[in-house]
Amino acid sequence: MSESPEGVIYLDHAATTPTRPEVVEAMAPFMNDRFGNPSGSHVVARSAVNAMDEAREVIAGIIGAEPGDVIFTSGGTEADNHAITGGLPSRSGVPICSAVEHHAVLDVVEALGGRTVAVDSQCRVSIDSLKAALDETGEETSIVSVMLANNEVGTINDLGPIADLVAEYSPQERRIPLHTDAVQAAAWLDLRAAASRADLISVSAHKLGGPKGIGALVVRKGTPIRPMILGGGQERGRRSGTPSVAAIVGFATALRMVDSERDLVTERVIGLRRRFIDGLSESIDEIVATIDDARTVPGTCHVCFEGADSESLLLLFESAGLVASAGSSCSSGASEPSHVLSAMSVADKLRDGAIRFSIGHGTTEDDIERAVDLIPGAVSRARAFFS
Ligand code: PLP
Repeated sequence: MSESPEGVIYLDHAATTPTRPEVVEAMAPFMNDRFGNPSGSHVVARSAVNAMDEAREVIAGIIGAEPGDVIFTSGGTEADNHAITGGLPSRSGVPICSAVEHHAVLDVVEALGGRTVAVDSQCRVSIDSLKAALDETGEETSIVSVMLANNEVGTINDLGPIADLVAEYSPQERRIPLHTDAVQAAAWLDLRAAASRADLISVSAHKLGGPKGIGALVVRKGTPIRPMILGGGQERGRRSGTPSVAAIVGFATALRMVDSERDLVTERVIGLRRRFIDGLSESIDEIVATIDDARTVPGTCHVCFEGADSESLLLLFESAGLVASAGSSCSSGASEPSHVLSAMSVADKLRDGAIRFSIGHGTTEDDIERAVDLIPGAVSRARAFFS
């Protein structure tokens, strides 16, 4: 059964996912009788501490890290900001990131006077461009940040060659840290392998069936980090503030489910995405899949409808009962020009009609069949307005 409200076909899982019922159930005691502040030492506090310790162990294990490496944050944005700045005062030197990072990385790199690295037409980081940036910044490089999976088009980056290059450029006495934003990858990829070369890893619970407002920055042992939020000294002095035990337990529950169901869900979602693309391609002319399927996370399906504009498409989809996204939206919900599609040099005529459909673990075959039925009519109408 679809989990979306009132029969809406929800194809916007890259924006956020429905919270799994098992997650809500696991969180409930920590908003009831197990309400203790984990900074305390009495029996009520200990009940919360134990749950937090257990959750930390689960999350660390699934990411391929040690429990002590995990700093709980308010989500992906905070984890990214902390990784790039390195805390207070911020790391000296020049940060480098790919040109297609989420704004939670890109804006911090830009604020610190950093460099961006080009991508190819499939949104993969250009090793030559990274090399050129490292040649320019040399030993002054403070950090390199490359996302594991892009939030707009879904492209997966292989961190191996990137980590090799960063290691090559690191001065003998100091390794340049490699950060990866794994916020969009964690629902799909086994981070034990995919993020094994990163020194810092950002994750967020609400992209994988967990609650909003909780995430983590994983900082591998030996990677320098200062606290970014100062105060009571929680998280071993690295991130102050009373933690939300309920959210942390929900995060661990969601991640455990993702990990145990990964193979089955991946296979099913890849099948749904294939049917979706084939169904649309049969009935719509001039539709272009932006990225080759094999290069993306299973749930993301970014397409361009030539001769239409994204805003009209989204309105018409929604009035027909389907929600998706134009890929890049600001907090007001309005579309802004996509820095990702610009960096990929997607032609204007395609960029105008770009839509990100993102499938999740709860998407059903019925959702996809209904989507394939209603999208062609909406595209014809949008094209009529546009021409
Ligand atoms: N990084 C990526 C790649 C994302 O897609 C997002 C959310 O859209 C974030 C970071 C921010 O995460 P959060 O919403 O948990 O702050």
